[in-house]
Amino acid sequence: MYLNMLINELKKFKNSSSCIVIGGGISGLITATLLQRRGIKVTILDKGKGIGGRLATRRVKHSATIEGVFDYGTQYFSVKQTKFQVWVDDWLKQGVIKQWCQGFSEMDGKPRYCGINGTRGIAKYLAQDLDVRHSTKVVKLNYDTQWRIETESNQQFRGDFLVMTPPVPQSLDLLGSSSVVLPPDIKASLKKISYYSCIAILALLEKPSNIPTPGGLALEDESLVWLASNHQKGISPHGYAVTLHASPSFSDAHWNSSDEEIAQKLFTVASSWLNSSVIKYQVHRWRYSLPKTFYSEPYLALTELPLVMAGDAFVAPKIEGAVLSGIAAAEYILSLL
Ligand SMILES: Cc1cc2nc3c(=O)[nH]c(=O)nc-3n(C[C@H](O)[C@H](O)[C@H](O)COP(=O)(O)OP(=O)(O)OC[C@H]3O[C@@H](n4cnc5c(N)ncnc54)[C@H](O)[C@@H]3O)c2cc1C
Repeated sequence: MYLNMLINELKKFKNSSSCIVIGGGISGLITATLLQRRGIKVTILDKGKGIGGRLATRRVKHSATIEGVFDYGTQYFSVKQTKFQVWVDDWLKQGVIKQWCQGFSEMDGKPRYCGINGTRGIAKYLAQDLDVRHSTKVVKLNYDTQWRIETESNQQFRGDFLVMTPPVPQSLDLLGSSSVVLPPDIKASLKKISYYSCIAILALLEKPSNIPTPGGLALEDESLVWLASNHQKGISPHGYAVTLHASPSFSDAHWNSSDEEIAQKLFTVASSWLNSSVIKYQVHRWRYSLPKTFYSEPYLALTELPLVMAGDAFVAPKIEGAVLSGIAAAEYILSLL
């Protein structure tokens, strides 16, 4: 009898709990999905115009008949852990992703997946039943008995829990400009986490590239590390859309160079693979591309405050790492209820 009453009280508390998730990248979306499934009211705030963070796909229209579709962040992913496989199986079943290939220069039999409509499609699928606020940059965090989150456009959001999933330096900046004080040892560990930068070029070609089947090529060049034909990948049926990723050293050295200079340099390096004139191009600068150092746990939870941090820098520099961190963060919060 007493036990039932206690369980009912706990259920009531759980059903009335709320959580603000900062960041609508894959880790934030996974945490939000798991919390919402268990009755917690979740709101995701993301500064981006679209959902997905580094799961980024963009359309570049040239004419009525020519349009390039580019994955310009994450290119593909594979699976190691069963906890991630469960999500991947669902995405396959729902027609959100497909197997792109089983290797690039060498076939190793291990599936490489990509979004059927680009990798952002995975984020869109996860977001469809969630309360996501786009173009909503969080600028200040306050905590009294609840979190009060302030945005650039002077909106306020309240929640019992706060999950932060931006790249760690951005989360630290946000905490620094707020009234939230981190324990010095935790702050020192977080400050050690750094990321590679990556300049991406989205190039729409006049004719098909020379990139070999299946359309992805890792290079060991000092300036260019990756080339992908989004046309061969199957996401850009109406345009020969090629993504180029510059190396971290090139990206650092040319961060402030003009788009024209960057494009001219990288197109020269890639010319034999491009094998075509470029109709139009765009340059995207990823300040935080892949983490190079990591936190020692799959998420960070403060004992003093209902604050959790998650993201790829807590597990591994890939979609799978971000998903596993998002799962671990949600499991932690649910364990408190
Ligand atoms: C160029 C590139 C290539 C990659 N290639 C691969 C690959 O081939 N395979 C692979 O598995 N992984 C790859 N990755 C890594 C993969 O994309 C990431 O590991 C993963 O997407 C990280 O997800 P996340 O949710 O941790 O972070 P993010 O996707 O960065 O999400 C964080 C979100 O926080 C939001 N945000 C930040 N600050 C604020 C604020 N103040 N207010 C509101 N919102 C805020 C951002 O807008 C963003 O949407 C690549 C990444 C890049 C950039």
